Amino acid sequence: MTQASRTMLADMKRLFIASRGNPEHLAQLFRAELPDFDVLTEQPKDGDADVPYIVVGRPLPGVVRAVPGLKLVLSLNAGIEHLLASGEVPEELPIVRLVDDGLALGMAEWVLAQALAWHRNLFLYAELQSKGEWAPQPEKLANERKVTVLGAGALGRPVAEHFVRLGFGTHVWARSRHSIPGASTFSGTDQLPEAARGADILVNLLPLTAETADLIDADLLAVLADGAFFINAARGGHVVDADLIAALDSGKLSGAALDVFRTEPLPIEDPLWQHPRVRLSPHVAAPTHQHMAVKEMAANIRRFEQGEPVRNVVDRSLGY
Ligand code: NAP
Repeated sequence: MTQASRTMLADMKRLFIASRGNPEHLAQLFRAELPDFDVLTEQPKDGDADVPYIVVGRPLPGVVRAVPGLKLVLSLNAGIEHLLASGEVPEELPIVRLVDDGLALGMAEWVLAQALAWHRNLFLYAELQSKGEWAPQPEKLANERKVTVLGAGALGRPVAEHFVRLGFGTHVWARSRHSIPGASTFSGTDQLPEAARGADILVNLLPLTAETADLIDADLLAVLADGAFFINAARGGHVVDADLIAALDSGKLSGAALDVFRTEPLPIEDPLWQHPRVRLSPHVAAPTHQHMAVKEMAANIRRFEQGEPVRNVVDRSLGY
């Protein structure tokens, strides 16, 4: 390396990708978006030049604190509860969670696929086919069904808008009151039963916080329509599993589509694996599409560099 290129590198801003997997593809994407940055994939240490930006998934203990001169933590995921719970990110450092079109589109596809499959009895017909039974079921239209979406954020809102477009009676519940054309909106713990009462489909898109943990329990499931369908694409910690299984066993719920679990991978001895009314998938509802995520993160880094407000900073007091 020449002296000139050494000097140039010393003047560059630095970004560290603390990925547990192979970070090379991500690094290439960042180098394309931020050509004036030195993108590191090896842990920088005390005494090294400052590294103001770190990109993290689930960082190993000590990794974030060891980075010198850190100013901004960018998450590769929408859910950041693990970063708050681990205490790995010093209090004073802002954490930016991932919000991008790829996540919103992916989540809408997955939730709508599950909801429509249940609504049009496709799960039931697959079961009947396996038994060689030709048994037409009564079919309803979307406008004869009610859906309740918990969460009106980056993912809940677009999902609710899709339900409205398809004609479902749509209720949306969040911490604060939202306005979503065509949907009825509810806010706060007091209004949760009203938001969920009589719902044929309950969709969970809340963040996992102290307030939302274990929220989906026997009391909440009891207010749904008999034979309702539950879709969980948020976090396993929202659900009291024993209450969910009891509701499935009793027929209160006719089924559940679960993408997320308290322990992941879901242990093979977990009863959810074998439950005939459960459709499960391995946390794939809305995977991070790296090329889209990197564009969003790079744009946020540029905002930070220019002293503009950074988007999607986590409010630590709320936990999301
Ligand atoms: P978000 O943008 O932070 O939105 C959260 C929503 O939940 C907001 O509408 C918020 O209300 C509401 N909320 C928070 N606390 C509440 C409370 N105590 N009571 C009532 N409402 C409350 O989150 P997001 O990006 O949409 O993500 C939603 C979930 O999807 C997260 O759990 C995330 O981890 C999960 N996720 C899963 C996958 C997957 O592949 N399965 C992929 C990505 C994300 P306000 O609007 O009033 O603030």
